[in-house]
Amino acid sequence: MLIEKQTINVVWMKRDMRTQDHEPLMLADKAGTPYFIVFCFEPSIISHSDTSNRHLQFQYHSLLQVNGKLEISGRCVYLFYCEMIETLKWLDTHFEIANLYSYRESGIRLTWERDKEVKSWCNKHSVQWTECKRDGIQRGIGNRDGWDKQWYSFMHAPIIRNTFSPQLIMMPEHPFVIPQNLLNEWKSFPREFQPAGEDMAFRYLQSFAESRGVNYNKHISKPTESRVSCGRISPYLAWGNVSVRQVYRYLLEHPNAGKDKRWVDGFLTRVKWRDHFIQKFEVECDYETRCVNAGYESLVKDHNSAHVKAWEMGLTGFPLIDACMRCLHETGWINFRMRAMLVSFFCHHLYQDWRSGTYHLARLFLDYEPGIHYPQFQMQAGTTGVNTVRMYNPVKQSLDHDPEGVFIKAWVPELRAVAVEHIHEPHYMTVGEQDLCGVRIGTDYPAPIIALDSAARHAREAIWGHRKKDEVKAEGKRIVATHARKRSVVRKKKGGEQLSLL
Ligand SMILES: Cc1cc2nc3c(=O)[nH]c(=O)nc-3n(C[C@H](O)[C@H](O)[C@H](O)COP(=O)(O)OP(=O)(O)OC[C@H]3O[C@@H](n4cnc5c(N)ncnc54)[C@H](O)[C@@H]3O)c2cc1C
Repeated sequence: MLIEKQTINVVWMKRDMRTQDHEPLMLADKAGTPYFIVFCFEPSIISHSDTSNRHLQFQYHSLLQVNGKLEISGRCVYLFYCEMIETLKWLDTHFEIANLYSYRESGIRLTWERDKEVKSWCNKHSVQWTECKRDGIQRGIGNRDGWDKQWYSFMHAPIIRNTFSPQLIMMPEHPFVIPQNLLNEWKSFPREFQPAGEDMAFRYLQSFAESRGVNYNKHISKPTESRVSCGRISPYLAWGNVSVRQVYRYLLEHPNAGKDKRWVDGFLTRVKWRDHFIQKFEVECDYETRCVNAGYESLVKDHNSAHVKAWEMGLTGFPLIDACMRCLHETGWINFRMRAMLVSFFCHHLYQDWRSGTYHLARLFLDYEPGIHYPQFQMQAGTTGVNTVRMYNPVKQSLDHDPEGVFIKAWVPELRAVAVEHIHEPHYMTVGEQDLCGVRIGTDYPAPIIALDSAARHAREAIWGHRKKDEVKAEGKRIVATHARKRSVVRKKKGGEQLSLL
């Protein structure tokens, strides 16, 4: 006798680990058919060069919190340690899957190909896959006509108040359990990282709106002060503990927003940049591995593994560079300018191919978001051919933004006893001065691994020279036609970041 399989729907949670303003969850709950929520720790993604333990820890703890919130309805997110396709195949042996609900992912090629495989499996098995629009990103567009308007209408649409009907069916035990050694690693979560989860996202938003944000514009480039005055909402957006609409609306509708509009506007502008950058990546996800401007593929860079290693370890002999890198190792966050400076130093002064540095920073950033990371990395590397090439002199940045060396001393302990007048370039200390503070350059702290001025000159000539090539110019026109919004501008804000909306 043939036993009829029970019909179910499935919600596939990805980078949207939250319980509110969640369209796939809303659709599943409204449909009336029993449904399961699944999350897959996929070995193919875990072993990709951009993934690190801190990302997995953040995901795991985000999911624990989602499960805490779902408990009252008897629901939970079922965790699988396998590819999504295997999860579907296994579910299919027990149930009749009618619908799959998820958000659309603007990820790297690996997840794009995975999604295509899932799509073809769904088609073959008559499963209707509904991919909801994530954030303000649009799929299948060839240019940015009307993009801004659609972005605002998405941000101003009602926030979804999710409710959860009781779960009435049981998921049979599945064989794809997370290996115990991984679980042990993920369960611990270093205190130096921002804690994961929906509640934390709102705590950060609240403290930003109520007090921290007042110095947002003033301190945005300061490595120490920005740790407090910036939104610090990026990991929660990256892993979907909060939606971009929730963030946008929370700030816009907060009573403090009317009091001083400048910092609120500055913040909301950047929230929109986020989607602007992700939109570029949605259209061309190969920016992970190839130059935005294909004309730059012919610009051959050095490959000096000792320099790459020194940069990765924070041992370059440039105190602010080393402090930023070590701070990232410990905490997973530095501000925009310091990120840009690290990339600029790597690609220009050290003259390394941008591809030798992207994964290292991706793994360190707790807020790793491919759609921002690769386009931003390349913008700073000067491989777009349409943005002004900015070369950040690390000594000048240090003098401007960490004049007393507070940040440097916090993260490069071997320089703590160095006097303020030497902290930005300790290698200029005489032997006597080194003895006086007990720091031997070349032994306790490295001498600079390059000569800054000549390295900058060489890079500037190479990059700007290459920009004159016909293939770079032709590619530039294509990039502008595809990614530029009408009336897009590149302007420089006094004392602030370069505002590039292209
Ligand atoms: C080389 C490089 C790589 C980067 N990689 C990432 C990444 O992987 N993930 C990530 O979230 N940000 C990335 N950024 C952008 C930026 O540095 C961070 O978004 C910001 O520092 C996060 O801190 P915050 O939440 O306090 O930002 P806030 O200043 O409070 O801004 C609020 C939000 O706006 C968005 N945002 C802010 N600045 C930018 C920007 N310049 N471009 C696009 N969106 C922005 C972010 O979502 C951020 O959370 C990168 C920047 C550079 C130069």
